[in-house]
Amino acid sequence: ILQLFMPLNFLGMVYREIRRALTDIENMFGLLKKAPSVSDEPDAPPLKVIQGAIEFREVNFAYHAERPILKNLSFKVNPGEKVAVVGPSGAGKSTLARLLFRFYDLQSGEILIDNQPINRVSQLSLRQAIGVVPQDTVLFNDTIFSNVAYGRPEAAPEEVNTAIRMANLDRFIEALPEGPDTRVGERGLKVSGGEKQRIAIARVILKKPPILLFDEATSALDSATEKAILSSLNSLAKNHTSLVIAHRLSTIIDADQILVMDSGEIIERGTHQQLMNMNGRYAAMWRLQQDNPDESTATL
Ligand code: ADP
Ligand code: MG
Repeated sequence: ILQLFMPLNFLGMVYREIRRALTDIENMFGLLKKAPSVSDEPDAPPLKVIQGAIEFREVNFAYHAERPILKNLSFKVNPGEKVAVVGPSGAGKSTLARLLFRFYDLQSGEILIDNQPINRVSQLSLRQAIGVVPQDTVLFNDTIFSNVAYGRPEAAPEEVNTAIRMANLDRFIEALPEGPDTRVGERGLKVSGGEKQRIAIARVILKKPPILLFDEATSALDSATEKAILSSLNSLAKNHTSLVIAHRLSTIIDADQILVMDSGEIIERGTHQQLMNMNGRYAAMWRLQQDNPDESTATL
């Protein structure tokens, strides 16, 4: 009986791990109803992340062969750097993020993390190495505390509380009727988009993945909330490699590199200042957002 149960238990554990890794990602892209279409090679080793460097090398990708989506995309994110991706809706920003998780295999080219092609390592290890702060986080019908603890269920309560503070959630929680034990989710307290995003940030702080992927909120947050989120994002991004899909250019001025995408290609790249000096597409987007601060880059 034991021999029968041990593997089942183990499978259950692996299954829960995969579910956990996937839920955030599904939330992030809001579309993954079908099972991922990629499979591990037999004996695929786990990804070993030492520095957290990301490289896209001449990546070509299409959802359907007759319609190329990403065309010869190459870029690097050096360890600890923050790289932002901006561009109009349909440019391929979310696709790029999905490929980093290996939801799909490439037509050609390579994606590497610390020089390991991501299609050669186990999917579980790949997804565990990346923390996602999605645009719209789904909360479970549970307490705020448990919703944060879900980032790393085995974490000690003090660690969960630290994550809550780092994500600027403590003031919000203190004001609740039952503090961290207040129930949220569909059948509990209504939580705003900004608060949900901070819960997602707290989860990722707790998970401590070497690589971070943000999909910034498009919804108009009030500027105080945006400031609070920005400061928690920045404290989280310190010492991490991060890729930020940015909707408001004001949030990525400090990025080490900004990639401007259109129709599956990188049309401009550089720091904010370099791109402003180029006076091309990025500079035009910047001027437009200065006039309409709530405008998302997705509409430009
Ligand atoms: P962005 O995030 O920059 O708005 P996406 O990466 O979502 O752009 O989409 C890039 C292109 O790929 C769009 O033309 C979109 O219609 C197409 N696309 C996105 N997801 C799918 C899918 N699952 N199947 C087929 N085409 C898709
Ligand atoms: Mg998108």
